[in-house]
Amino acid sequence: MLPVKTFVFLVTIHKNQNSKYNIDMNSYDVAVIGSGPGGYVAAIRCAQLGMKTAIIEKYSTLGGTCLNVGCIPSKALLDSSHHFEDAVKHFDTHGIELPGDVKVNLEKMIARKQAVVDQTTGGIDFLMKKNNIDVYQGLGSFKDARHINIAGEETIEIEAKHTIIATGSKPSSLPFINIDKERIITSTEALKLKEIPKHLVVIGGGVIGLELGQVYRRLGAEVTVVEYMDRIIPTMDAGLSKELNKVFKKAKFKMNVSHKVKSVERVGDEVIIKADNKKGEEVEIKGDYCLVSVGRRPYTDGLNSEAAGVKLNDRGQVEVNDHLQTSASNIYAIGDVIKGAMLAHKAEEEGVFVAETIAGQKPHIDYNLIPGVVYTWPEVASVGKSEEQLKEAGVAYKSGSFPMRALGRSRASMDIDGFVKILADKTTDEILGVHMIGARAADMIAEAVVAMEFRASAEDVSRMSHAHPTYTEAIKEAALAATEDRALHI
Ligand code: FAD
Ligand code: NAD
Repeated sequence: MLPVKTFVFLVTIHKNQNSKYNIDMNSYDVAVIGSGPGGYVAAIRCAQLGMKTAIIEKYSTLGGTCLNVGCIPSKALLDSSHHFEDAVKHFDTHGIELPGDVKVNLEKMIARKQAVVDQTTGGIDFLMKKNNIDVYQGLGSFKDARHINIAGEETIEIEAKHTIIATGSKPSSLPFINIDKERIITSTEALKLKEIPKHLVVIGGGVIGLELGQVYRRLGAEVTVVEYMDRIIPTMDAGLSKELNKVFKKAKFKMNVSHKVKSVERVGDEVIIKADNKKGEEVEIKGDYCLVSVGRRPYTDGLNSEAAGVKLNDRGQVEVNDHLQTSASNIYAIGDVIKGAMLAHKAEEEGVFVAETIAGQKPHIDYNLIPGVVYTWPEVASVGKSEEQLKEAGVAYKSGSFPMRALGRSRASMDIDGFVKILADKTTDEILGVHMIGARAADMIAEAVVAMEFRASAEDVSRMSHAHPTYTEAIKEAALAATEDRALHI
């Protein structure tokens, strides 16, 4: 059901479109297909640069995966469940006594999440209006490289000198799994469950599995993670995996790494997962819900890219060159639908990059400096190269670490898990990678990004004043440790 405010907005848009049915008015400098963080940011930047811009979205709300079924709703549930966990486990220690048992009202929690989503997607409606961007609701499909059909309530055609494909991604699965969306679910369903699972089995110990696994573990579900690789969050620095694994085990997650899932079957309200462990033995796990979080696939269904001469690669991604230009020279692609990390802020950077490229500017993105964050608690955040990558590339480096538990700020808040690790070039001291796990690491990583953008050395960071008491003091201390092995507080 659409919120009333959104419905009124769509009616308004529809009216605007009707008044624009002559060919001239339906002709744009830029058409953006997809309104996720890549698409809507690209549209805003195009409009800022004076281009007549349209955005096409097949769903009734703007904002794409991130705002509707991704970043925002998952963080809303992480926050709510964190409050619950604090009330149950930590209030008493802080001297806060509650009159009775603390209970979860899941329906209310999910409704609050939806209210946050509605408010956020409504904000994109506002931004489109503010920037005079025409919004079309319907499936965008290429007729040729300069014309797009939009199948909404009726099908209309628009002309665009340039098009930006920002059609994003969808959850992927394994060939033998039937996602029934009731008991065998993806993140989309996990964000709106009607009951707390008794036992949630999570296939894939990556970002989604751990974030949503933590939500339901905090609410009381037993959670078992089944991961194919030999560690959780396997694409991040191994030290982070190890520490997060330790914290999750303390919270009684069952972790099964090096397990190859071979079947997932629903029997009534039960889901039976079979996997082979490292020794090749079959392991059977039974739960009442199974979250399949084994990655996402680029989404181009219905786009009719061939008609525009836009080539896909063998992974189904839209192929682009260094300018994010596709095989059709007036068509660009950004975000999850192309190569690279599937992150909202990566999609946003690419949206700005393409808008500025079309406008004749010479923008630049340093992909090495796009941070990665896992919003569990403790939060996990990284930028630059991991130790594994530096070793593989044969780079001589030094490493300095500092544990969060040594900070006064951490003791005050009882967030003592984690550390900050800084990797710096052995000869020049330039920072090559920063990896952290701890309270508010998601926000703290910004300091590392700034430092690396300006090619700071570990010593540069170690000589900057960091407010006391803050978690960021661990960054200064890790920098001291990396520079001269002279952290002050350990
Ligand atoms: P999308 O956001 O996927 O948007 C694409 C849009 O295009 C969609 O609205 C789709 O309906 C529309 N579309 C597709 N085809 C057509 C068509 N033919 N015509 C019209 N419209 C079309 N990333 C982070 O950085 N931080 C996080 O905390 C984070 N949390 C996440 C949590 C979850 C549960 C999930 C699933 C993802 C999360 N992500 C997070 C990833 C993030 O959501 C994506 O990287 C980001 O949304 C990609 O943006 P995009 O613009 O490329 O595509
Ligand atoms: P992911 O790539 O983070 O994790 C998938 C995990 O599944 C990996 O650890 C992989 O080894 C494992 N896996 C793959 N096949 C398997 C199999 N057969 N059996 C067991 N395990 C298997 O993907 P995701 O967690 O599904 O998230 C999808 C995308 O969404 C990611 O690219 C991520 O960047 C993005 N996302 C980002 C955030 C964030 O930035 N905080 C949050 C959620 C999602």
